[in-house]
Amino acid sequence: MPLEEYKRKRNFKETPEPAGTTPHRSPAGRQPRFFCVQKHLASHLHYDFRLEHDGVLLSWAVPKGPSLDPATKRLAMHVEDHPLEYGEFEGVIPAGYGAGIVMLWDRGTWTPEVEDVDAALAKVDLKFTLDGYKLKGSWVLVRTKGAWPGRRSLGEGGAARGAAPGRSWLLIKHRDEWAGAVDIAEFAPLSVKSRGDFADILAQDNPDIWRSARPARGGETGALFERIIARSLEMKARRPAASGSPASRRAKGSTGTRSGGSRGSTGSRSRKAQTRAPRKRAS
Ligand code: MN
Repeated sequence: MPLEEYKRKRNFKETPEPAGTTPHRSPAGRQPRFFCVQKHLASHLHYDFRLEHDGVLLSWAVPKGPSLDPATKRLAMHVEDHPLEYGEFEGVIPAGYGAGIVMLWDRGTWTPEVEDVDAALAKVDLKFTLDGYKLKGSWVLVRTKGAWPGRRSLGEGGAARGAAPGRSWLLIKHRDEWAGAVDIAEFAPLSVKSRGDFADILAQDNPDIWRSARPARGGETGALFERIIARSLEMKARRPAASGSPASRRAKGSTGTRSGGSRGSTGSRSRKAQTRAPRKRAS
């Protein structure tokens, strides 16, 4: 049962995440294969790195996100396999496991740099090439030892992926033309699917759902949620009709659009907002 853990953790009456009921076969030799990275604001912000293999998405949670700098090794916690359909998922998980906002941050294809992916995963590392919008070139996932001190032997030899031991890996960029010093998470923060940020994604859904119970309270993540919720409520108020519907054009009438405070990281969206709101000069 490849997706047993995935299904056990979720209540599909509550979450819009795909139920994973469609069986898929990704023949071992199929190339190139799908990969994606989802930026996930839940109890903590992290990036979920997913590689298609054998009909599922092998998944790692990367707290700090991928780095293009080969000297920067990023911790990647191996988590349960996800269904292939998950690769297109972007949206709001109202409650339960992973409650928060999921953004499709990057997607594309990947090619193993080894012949036998399973064997590579069972040993110590998996080398591969990515061809996404943001992540490209050669990378490696390296299994680390001693995630649980005193249980070292359990991490070895146990081929099964998804097994509890050896969950801790490192995601590292190889030195090539796609490596560099740029902070890719900061440089390219938006969705490759909707082009929005977290607030845009929440505004497409229901920004009110977390008025009382937020996925994270206090601390950095709590503050981040607060800002995002406030901003998406503002957006929603400014745009009463369902987005994209012809009605939205009619709904514009009431007040002149106010271009909100332009934040540095939200370039494309605020630029759009600005071009849509030409201030009339009093003549
Ligand atoms: Mn996640």
